[in-house]
Amino acid sequence: MSAVRGRFAARTVRVKAPGKVNVALDVGPLRPDGYHSVASVYLAVSLYEEVAATSTEAAGITISISPASTLDLDEMDIPLDENNLAYKAAAIMADVSEHSTGVHLEITKRVPVAGGMGGGSADAAATLLACDALWNSGLSRDELAHLAAELGADVPFSLLGGTAVGLGVGDELSPALAKAQTDWVLVAADFGLPTPVVFRTLDRLRDAEGVDVPEPSAVDPKILQALRSGDADALSRVLVNDLQRASIELAPSLRDTLGMGESRGAIAGIISGSGPTVALLTRSPAAAEGLAEELRHHGLNATAVHGPVHGARIISDTLL
Ligand code: ATP
Repeated sequence: MSAVRGRFAARTVRVKAPGKVNVALDVGPLRPDGYHSVASVYLAVSLYEEVAATSTEAAGITISISPASTLDLDEMDIPLDENNLAYKAAAIMADVSEHSTGVHLEITKRVPVAGGMGGGSADAAATLLACDALWNSGLSRDELAHLAAELGADVPFSLLGGTAVGLGVGDELSPALAKAQTDWVLVAADFGLPTPVVFRTLDRLRDAEGVDVPEPSAVDPKILQALRSGDADALSRVLVNDLQRASIELAPSLRDTLGMGESRGAIAGIISGSGPTVALLTRSPAAAEGLAEELRHHGLNATAVHGPVHGARIISDTLL
């Protein structure tokens, strides 16, 4: 393709969007509509998905995936059709854009698939922003956030980034303005856990115990205080994830991963969202790098990251 007058001029907009760790995740009882209310603190971390959206002369949406070196995508089950969240995001943007074209989405995956870090949601957030730019839709961030919420509970957060409290099903977001950095090691598993199965397992465990769980309505203010001051020790005492025991019930090896991290210098460990990615908290960037290195020597897929980081952002816009 070239930009010669009269011929189709292809353009590529490249966007990166972060994965997330839930620093806190309180889960309420199963609601009659099949969902669970949550009270969650999201932290956007420096592990990014990238989506390059290229306009195409032929109508329609196509997708390809490039693995980043840390992920073995052969093992992963990522749909390349209308079931891909990025496809759905492009389709929604095409609906609201007057000048949409065909589009090819090339997704560079770094966030573990079905890992509890919202990787598909990050792809959707990146695609919304890329197609908005590609087709000059002129939507505000609020309008994009509205479309994001239609795609999934975690999509608005990947657009927003930073630190945020999520209520409702996680989609009612309030930025938490906690900018101090915390340093983590993420340990990706070589298997995924489907989020609905993890929620069902939690319901089953709770049913068996016969305990009534209250609807969550707020997050512990100590979590936000610790994130505001970047006090990793204070944060280590208040990390909470109600889904963790369900993830461990489904994948008992996660207990060993948590134990290995904690015995080698992490000050606390938590499963991210529905798992199976384990997030290990450390006291400094150097401690995170050191721990990641050591865990890699033991054969684990470990990466040092920090948070909070910005939400979805355009990194280049090129006429081909
Ligand atoms: P969440 O915590 O948001 O439920 P997750 O981070 O655990 O999700 P994802 O990697 O977002 O998991 O994907 C979950 C499932 O969704 C995958 O197993 C895959 O079948 C499907 N999927 C749809 N679109 C994508 C995408 N763009 N990337 C990865 N998986 C996708």
